[in-house]
Amino acid sequence: MTNSLALPIDSHKDIYESCISNLHATTKKKFLDNLDYFIDKGDEFESKMIGNTLFNTTPVSSVGTITTHEMVYLYTGKLSKLGHPARVFYDRLRSIPANGQCPLCSVRTVTTLDHYLPKADFPVYAILPINLIPACRDCNTDKLSETPTTHSEETIHPYFDVLPDGIYLHANLIKTKPASLVFFVNAPSPWGSVLQSRLKTHFRIFNLNKLYVVTLPFFEPVC
Ligand SMILES: [Zn+2]
Repeated sequence: MTNSLALPIDSHKDIYESCISNLHATTKKKFLDNLDYFIDKGDEFESKMIGNTLFNTTPVSSVGTITTHEMVYLYTGKLSKLGHPARVFYDRLRSIPANGQCPLCSVRTVTTLDHYLPKADFPVYAILPINLIPACRDCNTDKLSETPTTHSEETIHPYFDVLPDGIYLHANLIKTKPASLVFFVNAPSPWGSVLQSRLKTHFRIFNLNKLYVVTLPFFEPVC
């Protein structure tokens, strides 16, 4: 259901500096004046991921005179913009899964980047590489704008979460005509209740029940 990924090789600082490289001089200076702040926020994000406390992050919509619009524009108008020098970082992030497979559903092909913390609510992380997960279009759009209030409500993060060995995805055979296999999450009890909840959250938010369901048109169930 989910695949772990290697961490991005490009630094937040390199991406930030590339994104602002061709801004108007006045705007560029505003961003440069706040470079250390953005780097600190990126380091804080990583520490919280490792400490399982990212849910306890207060949205930061603006930094001094830098507006939400300007921060989000670094992603939409620079990092992801075809032809912009920073686009090489976007393409490198998108190519992290060696097989091109979306790590959020493990089925479809990567076409975009998904913000783990949404840029609309957390624009300060709009171009933070560890907040940018290679994803298929459907996973990116299916994700609801739910804000987790506990670690149990967070989806799986492919850069930081490594699942133990074991089976957590199961299916029920529904004996209708046609029959079908309907999948659900039930992790081994040693994995703990938090990971169990997070896997169920991930399954629900990305609508994986609809993606995984299998119809068996030629199967005649014995009732
Ligand atoms: Zn996907």
